[in-house]
Amino acid sequence: LQADKPRHIRALDQDVVNKIAAGEIIVAPVHALKELIENGVDAGSTAIEILVKEGGLKLLQITDNGHGINRDDLPILCERFTTSKLKAFEDLSTIGTYGFRGEALASISHIAHLTVTTKPKESSCAWRANYSGGKLVPAKPGQSADPKPTAGRQGTQITVEDLFYNVPARRRAFRSASEEYAKILDMVGRYAVHCHGVAFTCKKHGDTSMGISTPANATIVDRIRQIHGAAVANELIELKNEDDRLGFMAQGWVSNANYHVKRTMLLLFINHRAVESSAIKKAVEQTYSAFLPKGGHPFVYLSLDIDPRRVDVNVHPTKREVNFLNEDEIIEQICDKIRLSLSTVDSSRTFMTQT
Ligand code: ADP
Ligand code: MG
Repeated sequence: LQADKPRHIRALDQDVVNKIAAGEIIVAPVHALKELIENGVDAGSTAIEILVKEGGLKLLQITDNGHGINRDDLPILCERFTTSKLKAFEDLSTIGTYGFRGEALASISHIAHLTVTTKPKESSCAWRANYSGGKLVPAKPGQSADPKPTAGRQGTQITVEDLFYNVPARRRAFRSASEEYAKILDMVGRYAVHCHGVAFTCKKHGDTSMGISTPANATIVDRIRQIHGAAVANELIELKNEDDRLGFMAQGWVSNANYHVKRTMLLLFINHRAVESSAIKKAVEQTYSAFLPKGGHPFVYLSLDIDPRRVDVNVHPTKREVNFLNEDEIIEQICDKIRLSLSTVDSSRTFMTQT
């Protein structure tokens, strides 16, 4: 190679492009799982079961009882940018589903062995299909790649095996399966608290007991009790706040001044999507610092509904962060509300001990 000459610019192979994109969207098993949970909820499921082997690197299986996928759609299911949820770019501003880019299944099929078994209500049987690199592939060499009829209940089962098998550098970066499983339990726990009307189970292959199990009709406080324990569930105060000018509604349950832990537990949902926000976390911690002993932190479950026209969900490949208008003002209002509740509870406690 000559250093003094520019090298020719060439287009990358589509296959390479897809693999690179997949690695950005699915950084760890938990990201694949999050997409699959969201698909299950988008499909109107009332029960979602998750099975995990080796932190999700060996196996991630998620079974739902939603509306299923039409047999005729199976050939393009895992192509990039095929979706039943979005038609025009403008629709992004009113999107009510989690998915919209049609990238999740495509991405997974580029970096794992993917099997889909699905049965819509009207279908007389279930259909099973295997995918690799966005396309249907035979289950075994020599067989046809066409979806095969099989027995099955209504809904969809997605099986992801050997994640990152063809991205060795990424695969090697995962040192501990239990660390990945902890991330998975954390994510399932978030959706299990938030998704009212959906029963969740999650377990490790070989375990007899469930890592997480919540019934469909439990209240939010009961879900928090099951997943995070009675100690916090008994010390929660409800949070409700609405502002038409800022176009948002906040709902949640936050721990009172009797409760504190070493690290803040923030379960944050913006328009029903589990997201992270260092700005909200910082503001909440600041608010609580006036009420908790030094080094003590709160539990906060916060669900924000923001006018979709004010939210940009498309800023991050993993959709982990979202941008919204008037962020500072909205955060300030919520924290004012928390402060008010904490001081009210605080004074009632003082009052009670005095009498
Ligand atoms: P997106 O969710 O952004 O549309 P995905 O790649 O996650 O993209 O899924 C592609 C399409 O496959 C969805 O639009 C939906 O029609 C269908 N689909 C995926 N998972 C399920 C499921 N669990 N139940 C029913 N349909 C599903
Ligand atoms: Mg999706």
